[in-house]
Formats: sequence, structure tokens, C-alpha cells
Amino acid sequence: MKLLREKIEESGTVLSNGVLKVDSFLNHQIDAKLAIAIGKEFVKRFKDEEITKVVTIESSGIAPSLTAAIELGVDVVFARKKKSITMNDQVYTSEVYSFTKKETNTITISKDFLAKDDKILIIDDFLANGQAALGLTSVVEQSGATVVGIGIVIEKSFQNGRQSLVDKGYRVESLARIQSLKNETVTFLEDNVTAQ
Ligand code: 5GP
Repeated sequence: MKLLREKIEESGTVLSNGVLKVDSFLNHQIDAKLAIAIGKEFVKRFKDEEITKVVTIESSGIAPSLTAAIELGVDVVFARKKKSITMNDQVYTSEVYSFTKKETNTITISKDFLAKDDKILIIDDFLANGQAALGLTSVVEQSGATVVGIGIVIEKSFQNGRQSLVDKGYRVESLARIQSLKNETVTFLEDNVTAQ
């Protein structure tokens, strides 16, 4: 996705530990116009799928999920990283190790918001080792719902997340695929250079 790639080149910062900081448009401040374009692009890529709900994880997955959901005319459910006091015990849970925070969270989604006939599009901001996305697939599947695909805003293709998800049979669509973050430089996979 050209617009996203340009934004990463213009405003992304490579941190020393293989982390890309994109706080100015995705992880802290949100570029609203870009978020709308991202939502539309996800919907275009998954147009052949019947989707009844979008599932993501708080907090940075919410904006791109919401714009995709608005375009699809469906609702969004976000997994919580910490159980809210307003939640009862009727929850699906999964353990997720956070790549950036180096801690394990038990993610939860209330049983009220997933049904066995749901067709779920999972969306997240980043794909690194795939722990967040795998945790979300687990939570969704505990309800009996079907994961129709996984949409990722920025994939770090030098980590094994995509492979783990594809090996389990999931369709993964990433809007920007990063081949390397070496020498403080973002290098994209060539197949990522497509006109928007
Ligand atoms: P994974 O679970 O695939 O290892 O990592 C994905 C999660 O870690 C995402 O939800 C995202 O919050 C965070 N993450 C992983 N790599 C990066 C990165 O390079 N930059 C930022 N900002 N977040 C990342």
C-alpha cells in the first residue's frame, strides 16, 4: 500500500532492538485519513469473504479495525490485555507474550461478543513473531467462530509470524511488508511496491 509505505519512510523511526516506532501515525497519534485508507484496503483484499465481525487487540489495533468495520458495515470487538472489573467470568482467554513489552498478558474477550456462526476478520497493527495474532485466533476459535483471514498493517517479514500463521492455514494480508530494519533503515519487500 503506497500511502502507508510513504508514511513509514517519512515518519517511522527504527529503534536499536528491531522495533519500528510509528507513534506519529499509528501507535500514539493516529493519522485519521490514513486509517480510513487502511480500512478500505483491508476490505478490498478480503472482498471475497463473508465477514460478520472484526476482532483485534487493544489499543493500536482498534483504529484500523474500526475503519475496516465501518466499510464492511459490521462491529468490532477488541480483546482486552487486562481483565476489566466490569467483565464477568464468561470470557474466552489466551496467553500472549508481548514482543515490545516483554511480558505475558492474558487476553480476554467476553463470550457475549463472539458466536459460533461468526466469520471473523482479525486485524492488528504489527506482525512480528505472531503471538498476538495466534492468541486472537485461539480466542475466536474457542467460541466456534471461523477466522476468515488476518489483516496486518505492518508486517516485519524478517520475523516468523507470517510463517507461523500460514502453517496453521490462515490467510494473511499485510499492507506493508518490511524485509529488514538493519542500519536504522527500513527496507520493504519488493512485492510490496504496488500502486494504491
Ligand atoms: P507479535 O505478537 O507478532 O510478536 O508482535 C505483534 C505485536 O507486538 C503487535 O500487536 C505490536 O503491538 C507489537 N509490535 C511488534 N513489533 C513491533 C514494532 O516493530 N513496532 C511496534 N510499534 N510494535 C510492534
